[in-house]
Amino acid sequence: MIVNMSSIATEEEIRHVIERIKECGYQAHVIHGSERTVIGAVGSNGRRAEIEALRAAPGVEEVIQITHPFKLVSRQLRQRGTIVDVGGVKIGGGDLVVIAGPCSVESGEQLMATARAVKAAGGNMLRGGAYKPRTSPYDFQGLGVEALHLLRDASAETGLPIVTEVMSEVDVEIVAEYADMLQVGARNMQNFSLLRKLATFERPILLKRGPSATVKEWLLAAEYLLAGGNANVVLCERGIKTFETATRNTLDLSAIALAKELSHLPVLADPSHGTGLRSLVPPMSKAAAAVGADGLIIEVHPCPERALSDGPQSLDLAGFAELMKGLGKEYPRAVKAA
Ligand code: PEP
Ligand code: MN
Repeated sequence: MIVNMSSIATEEEIRHVIERIKECGYQAHVIHGSERTVIGAVGSNGRRAEIEALRAAPGVEEVIQITHPFKLVSRQLRQRGTIVDVGGVKIGGGDLVVIAGPCSVESGEQLMATARAVKAAGGNMLRGGAYKPRTSPYDFQGLGVEALHLLRDASAETGLPIVTEVMSEVDVEIVAEYADMLQVGARNMQNFSLLRKLATFERPILLKRGPSATVKEWLLAAEYLLAGGNANVVLCERGIKTFETATRNTLDLSAIALAKELSHLPVLADPSHGTGLRSLVPPMSKAAAAVGADGLIIEVHPCPERALSDGPQSLDLAGFAELMKGLGKEYPRAVKAA
């Protein structure tokens, strides 16, 4: 339920409503807008009729039901888009944020060359996998802690904040110590114990959509993070499984537009995993920007043919610079290429 306070409600009246919501067995989530305060009453075992009765309380304008199963991520609760600050980079603030880097961190030279090129081309953040979710146990699994050190070094030199995946609950502390943003990979979107643990941290989370997840399931996964106390959540559409085999996944552009409509959280697009094909990354980047994505996450490698993971979908350094130039020219919201 949402309690909309009147624009002239006093502090006292707002406090009273918060108290009543708690007495009725719900959590109270207070959103101070520029015109009015909105209070969300969220939970599963509260006395709902008593919240509805708050219509009669002083300072209350209306009490309405949140019709979606996801509550705290819903745009019904918070109309203005959330801006997530990652080490000074504002995701959702109006500019198209570009995160780029290798699929996996492979060596100091590989990462540093990529980081410098990403920075020079105008990228805003650096990505790189330290712990890799691989379909086969015989594939490269990532350098782990060593990669976290390399990522920090690259960030220190370039000033680019870093995002890297955390695969398991047991790695959350160590990854949070090094990374500016923690990625929950597509395969882990519904790892509820991982989500619950990440909710207790303050680090921003990049929540990828599961390859077979509906938009509703994706937003409910985000709801775990907000309900547990971490509101710094960015959604990422990375392609879903369809009958199509010509592309690795099907980048679901309508899900980007829909997630923006249903939720106040920023939404990124990952055209690299979304297509699996290098040649499709530039056009799908522009398409994602056109449907309202707040940013892009793109795989870049100094020598894609030698990449230990996802070479076929990785841009080389010149290809990334070219992409950035194209975005800067065609999209007014795009970051300016350096
Ligand atoms: C990745 O970003 O390299 C990755 C493994 O992504 P996803 O979880 O979307 O497959
Ligand atoms: Mn990858």
